[in-house]
Amino acid sequence: MGEAKRRRSEAANMVQRGTVQVGVVGDPSGVTTATINVDERHAGSLSAFMDEFARQNPHDRRSSVPCGTCRQCCWHPTVDVDKSVERPEDLAHLDLVVREDGKTVIRKRPDGACVHLGDGGCTVYKHRPRACRSYDCRIYSAFGILPTFNGDRHAPYWKFTLRSVRDYAVAIAARLSTMLASVDGHDDDNSAMQAAGHRYSQVMPRSLTALMRIPASERDQVIASAQSDGVLPPDAFEYRAP
Ligand code: SF4
Ligand code: SF4
Repeated sequence: MGEAKRRRSEAANMVQRGTVQVGVVGDPSGVTTATINVDERHAGSLSAFMDEFARQNPHDRRSSVPCGTCRQCCWHPTVDVDKSVERPEDLAHLDLVVREDGKTVIRKRPDGACVHLGDGGCTVYKHRPRACRSYDCRIYSAFGILPTFNGDRHAPYWKFTLRSVRDYAVAIAARLSTMLASVDGHDDDNSAMQAAGHRYSQVMPRSLTALMRIPASERDQVIASAQSDGVLPPDAFEYRAP
């Protein structure tokens, strides 16, 4: 999607200010949550999003986030650039520096933003690196992790709708995976997300099988229990009867 089209998508993606309960990265018990003020956006069916996300090549994903006017991830602490996989014509437009640890990254402005961030958004949009093309903050919301940039900037919170049994199975598996992964302790959003994603591939099939076995008449009770146990925080999703 071009930058202009990306901006126009704001209208179809109404933002409201909301509070969201998210897990606290770094809490070894995995149960501490914080309520944070963020922009809240609607994200549609959770299972449809997750299925599409899984279909894409993780090494060359073309994310289709309807960012609107959000630019928060352009304050990400590092925008890595792997020169061996980027196109030379893209590299020619990027202002790169090599850090002491040997990593090539995009230069930062003194205020912490990417040097290519302008008033109207990314000034090198067509040539942005893979890290930017593939970044999809919605996956973090699905797992109950809120990306934070430059100390106090947050990605929006994407509120998914749960209406099918598969939606509920995905939601329970994702949130349980984050809880399980946080037991190992993580001090940043990305490592927490990677660990939770790894657990998810093991937990999801069991979550789906277990939910399918429960008679439809008893599913409301199971969902209510998951909400009161904190696995499915009441404000985290839009709930519809499965
Ligand atoms: S934080 Fe999310 S919504 Fe905001 S610019 Fe980045 S990808 Fe888009
Ligand atoms: S290259 Fe563009 S999209 Fe990537 S961080 Fe910089 S301004 Fe944002």
